[in-house]
Order: sequence, then structure tokens, then C-alpha cells
Amino acid sequence: GLTGNKGWRPVWRDPEPKSDYDVIIIGGGGHGLATAYYLAKNHGITNIAVLERGYIGGGNVGRNTTIVRANYFLPGNSEFYSHSLKLWENMEQELNFNTMHSARGLINLFHTDGQRDAFARRGNMMCNQGDDAILLDRDGVRKHLPYLDFDNHRFPVYGGLYHPRGGTARHDAVAWGYAHAADRLGVDLIQQCEVTGIDVRDGKVQGVETTRGAIRANRVGIVVAGRSSQVAAMAGVDVPIESHILQAFVTEGLKPTVDHVVSFGMGHFYLSQSDKGGLVFGGDLDFYASYAQRGNLPMMEHVMEAGMSLVPALGKAKVLRSWGGIMDMTPDGSFIIDRTKVDGLYMDCGWCYGGFKAVPASGWCMAHLMAEDAPHEVAKKHTFDRFRTGHGLMDEEGTGSQHN
Ligand code: FAD
Repeated sequence: GLTGNKGWRPVWRDPEPKSDYDVIIIGGGGHGLATAYYLAKNHGITNIAVLERGYIGGGNVGRNTTIVRANYFLPGNSEFYSHSLKLWENMEQELNFNTMHSARGLINLFHTDGQRDAFARRGNMMCNQGDDAILLDRDGVRKHLPYLDFDNHRFPVYGGLYHPRGGTARHDAVAWGYAHAADRLGVDLIQQCEVTGIDVRDGKVQGVETTRGAIRANRVGIVVAGRSSQVAAMAGVDVPIESHILQAFVTEGLKPTVDHVVSFGMGHFYLSQSDKGGLVFGGDLDFYASYAQRGNLPMMEHVMEAGMSLVPALGKAKVLRSWGGIMDMTPDGSFIIDRTKVDGLYMDCGWCYGGFKAVPASGWCMAHLMAEDAPHEVAKKHTFDRFRTGHGLMDEEGTGSQHN
């Protein structure tokens, strides 16, 4: 069937950019594509260009470890991610695209009494939000994850918080699914088109300069993840974001072994198995600010050690590849979907290590903000103001970090 790759229909058009649009979205990652799709689908705005400097799926949306979950604790995050998980559960029907969403269950391990208490509270919060959580004891974890090292003395497994509706999806298929669906509604997806400047006159956005010429629009959304501070600076906007590298790893394909997503926060390690059989795992940030889309060796060593201490059998597998992505880190670990000081210029950023699971709700809420010039109910706490005033910070970094 693949012979010659002939006669295939492109999944989306490859249009030339027009000179003006109603809306420009900068960034063709998961969030930018979902924003364009929901602007068209929910708000009837279809004269939209998504401008992508590289190719669709080349950013973090195609570099992440694909974990999808709704296990946040704090008001603000809890309802947002709950909304997102519901959108995931209907995504394939909605987009008419196989994103390989697999609710295989996520287990966060705990290793002390204090951590058990914290996870019990988190589980109660998840249930109050209408999501699912089950507190497992040591034997309960052993039933699901018999391959863990239960004799580990440094971090003995006390139990785990099981979130059955959590799981994974194929990351680049999510980008392709939104791209395909947005294109069908008339959105122009323009690849190889880097935004190099943002035109602002009298405090209002007029359009953008790009490597393919100037394009006008009086509503522009910056949705560029790890490049948020650089692109915002083009409009004179300062954002409370640092860019850091996060790495991940995949092994050769193995027979099905790891049925769930396993998160070992104490050791900065998490693990799942892809449908191709590769064990997919990662850890924490490299911890120096950088725009390089690749990681460094010390974190690689740390991740391998943590993995081996939890699953000694990992030592038998060969690592095939590692890669890195640029994370847009906020001081409190929670995201921003908000207006800027420039009229008509909006931002969706600060996704830290956890923005894949947020793709549908982020697009939904950013589209609402750009169409109505008012925040959506489930994202109304996620403004820039919390960093100016110190009120309403949502310090949930621990949920993002080491848990993805
Ligand atoms: P991107 O795909 O990076 O999209 C931004 C786009 O903007 C890029 O394509 C870029 O080329 C474009 N751009 C930048 N500057 C310009 C410009 N000037 N002009 C035009 N275009 C521009 N999240 C989870 O929920 N679960 C996980 O398991 C998980 N694991 C991760 C593991 C790793 C190793 C990494 C790197 C990330 C992980 N994440 C995870 C985080 C998640 O991938 C990101 O938060 C999310 O993908 C960011 O949003 P995006 O998809 O829109 O970003």
C-alpha cells in the first residue's frame, strides 16, 4: 500500500498567506491548532491563519511523553483539567481522526506517610471535581505493577493514587487531527512562516511581520510555548516565563509489559509503553534556562538511575533515542490564558511540563477569550495579574514536575 506513496491526498491544504485575516494565531503546536479549530467550530470565525515557523507537529506537541490526566488539586487547575479530560474522551469522534487515546490508567506512587496523606487529599479533590481516583495500598500497587522493585529501601513503595481515566494519546496524531479538522473548516495553516515582528500602533495590534511578508489582523494570539517570552517581546510585552529544557527517552520495541502510566515523583521518573512497544520515560528539567531543543548528559544519568532503582528490568532494554523540548515555565507552575496590555493581542502560555493534556481545553478557552474578549469560566483564574499582585497564585508545580 505504501508503494511509491502515490495518489495520497494531503491531509490539509498548503495555502499561500493572504494579506489579511480576521485572526492570526502564531504557533502551529497543539494549543495553536486547537485554538484555531475551536474559533471556527464554536464561534464561527474561519478567516484565520495559523503561522508556524517550522512544520506542524515539530514543536513540543510532537516531543512530549503523551500523558493525559485530570489529577490536579487546586481550584482553578482542577476544573480546567477536568474539562480537558472530557474533551479528550470525545476527541476522536469530534475530529474524525484516530489520536490513539488510551485511558490505560495512571498510578502516582507514594513512599512516606506524609505523601499518602497528601495523595488522599488530592484523590478526594479529584472525586469532588467529578473525576476518578482510587487510593491503593502496597499490595494494590503490586497487583497492577508487579515489575516494580518492592524491596527498594531508599524509596519503599507504600502505595499509589490510581487515576483510571488517565492515560496516553499519540502526540503528533493530536496535532494532525486538529490541523485536519481546522483546515476543513477553512483555517489556513501556513508552515515555514516565522513571525519576526508584531505591528502595534496606538496600543492596538495591526498584524505581524513574517519571513513570508507582512500579514494584517486586528486579533492576534501568541501560542508559541517555549518561545513565549521572545515572541511577546516583539510587541513590547514582558511575560513571567523562563524557558527550560525537558528531555525524554524511548527504548527498542518490547512485548507489552507496562500497562499503565507509572509516576515516581520522589525519584523524578515516569514510565509508560507506547503502542509500538517502546518504553517511554523521562524525569525533571535540565534546570538551566535555554532555547536549545536538546538536553544534556547529567539529567540523562539521573533519569536512568531513577528508572533502574524503580524497575531494575529496565537495565535489559536498549535506549533508542532521546530528545528535548523547550518548556515555558511560570513561577507557580500554572498556565496563563489572558489578554496583554496591547489591544487585540492575546497569549496562551506557561504550560510548563504539562501542556499536552491541556491541548483541547486550552484551545477551547483561548478561542473563547479571543472571540468574546472575555475569559472562559474554567480558565478565568489564569491571568497575568496573579504575578503582579501575588493574589491567586496556583502553586502546583509538583503536579506538573515529575508527573507530566
Ligand atoms: P509546541 O508544539 O511547541 O508549539 C509551539 C509552536 O510555535 C512550535 O511549533 C514553534 O515552532 C512555533 N513558533 C515558535 N516561535 C514562532 C514564531 N516566531 N513564528 C511562528 N511560529 C513559532 N505534557 C503533558 O501533558 N504530558 C506529558 O507527558 C508531557 N511530556 C513532555 C515531555 C517532554 C520531553 C516535553 C518536551 C514536553 C512534555 N509535555 C507534556 C509538555 C507539552 O508537550 C507542552 O506543554 C505543549 O506541547 C506545549 O504546547 P504546544 O503543543 O502548543 O507547543
